Amino acid sequence: MLKTLIKALLAVLIVILVVMIVKTFFFTSKQVKAEPADVFSVDAKNVVRHLSDAIQIPTISFENEADFKGADFLKFHKYLERTYPQLHKKLQKEIINNYSLLYTWPGTDKNLQPIILLAHMDVVPVEEKSISQWTYRPFAGSVADGFIWGRGALDNKADLLAIMEAIEALVEKGFQPKRTVYIVSGHDEERGGIQGATKIAALLKERGVNPEYVLDEGMVITEGMMPGVSSRMGLIGIGEKGYLSIELIARSEGGHSAMPPRETAVGTLCKALDKLINNPFPARIDGPTKYLFDYAGREMSFAQRMIFANLWLTEGLLKSQLQKGKTTNALIRTTIAPTMLEGSNKDNVLPNVARAVVNFRILPGDTPDSVIEYVRKTVNDPSVEVKPLIKQVQGPSPVAGIDSKSFLTLQKTIRQVFPDVVVAPSLVIAATDSRHFAILTKDVYRFAPMILKSEDMARLHGINERIAVDNYLQMIKFYRQLIINSQI
Ligand SMILES: [Zn+2]
Repeated sequence: MLKTLIKALLAVLIVILVVMIVKTFFFTSKQVKAEPADVFSVDAKNVVRHLSDAIQIPTISFENEADFKGADFLKFHKYLERTYPQLHKKLQKEIINNYSLLYTWPGTDKNLQPIILLAHMDVVPVEEKSISQWTYRPFAGSVADGFIWGRGALDNKADLLAIMEAIEALVEKGFQPKRTVYIVSGHDEERGGIQGATKIAALLKERGVNPEYVLDEGMVITEGMMPGVSSRMGLIGIGEKGYLSIELIARSEGGHSAMPPRETAVGTLCKALDKLINNPFPARIDGPTKYLFDYAGREMSFAQRMIFANLWLTEGLLKSQLQKGKTTNALIRTTIAPTMLEGSNKDNVLPNVARAVVNFRILPGDTPDSVIEYVRKTVNDPSVEVKPLIKQVQGPSPVAGIDSKSFLTLQKTIRQVFPDVVVAPSLVIAATDSRHFAILTKDVYRFAPMILKSEDMARLHGINERIAVDNYLQMIKFYRQLIINSQI
């Protein structure tokens, strides 16, 4: 009897192993073959100087709106006009809401859907106390050690100027697009894009613009960041997580702390927070994250490929690994982050009200309403008020297609300009201006052709922001090639 059982078990194991091996065998690369990009030489010295000059104009989105300096933005507009004369002759420029820019390069075939390229012009401020830690001053636009340094070098002036350089060069050569090309440059992306990108998206909607695709920043070419993949990875964000903050409010009688009641406001609130923290949202490998592993997994060693080719068996194991890292954990679930706490402001006074704010980043598949419902159910205490901070609610974006012609065009262009790069769709954990364009199309892609190592991530909104000169030249090539490739 036992023998038969062992035999049966062995047979089942062998079948599972064979299925796994066969599945792994057919789990082959999804990378497209691409002929090299057109030969195109840029005047490196000139274009580098342009970006350096642009960094020197401090188009800052301050925390406090009252600090906004409109004059710097107008100076930046003038700078673009002077630097890209051909572009400004050929493209129609509109100034939206005083400071944001919308350029239209009309295509010759009105039946073709236009494309929209986004790159914001504002930058985050530099903390006064961090200035001394910068190798080169943040608004000096220094060119040194093979890099262009300064606030905006990555986020996002390199993109904006690379797009402009590409178009300037195309116009100069007499190139005429068949498909209309829009450039959108918002002036308040770092404050949520309410004044700029939102208004432009609404205007384009009103004009009936139905784009083939929208391209914005969000993801990049990463180096050494995907375990198991030795190549650099061009990650195209096809969806963005949503954003929601919820207030938890607990009340009790206040008074002197020498005679505390059994239930205090702080105690009740802590219990509620504890329940939330200990009951994370369920992990899910689906949507953009599933596609990411589907593309990346195929580039790994046989043993690792076996894991990703057989998620039907390995999903649980994979999830438990992914939730160990904070970045990978954010890819597989709606995250819960308590960020603010308030009680009484004196050590011997019991507060009447204790308040916490918890920030949620919502995975596609969940919604702000489902998150609020989850919080109420988990806290499960009618004495704790659960209420969203309405002004910041943002559901996850729709998920862009990976079978679309646009995705293929992007994939091909990346492979033409960066032949060694493995392309994969992925999920954007932060928020970009592009989410406002979901009203025009679901095919909103988030990719900037800049190469970042994990140590470079801290440069974004941080100290010593910089872009390699070589990489910047490639960015210009990328946008030029993308516009050409998008014509068919
Ligand atoms: Zn940005």
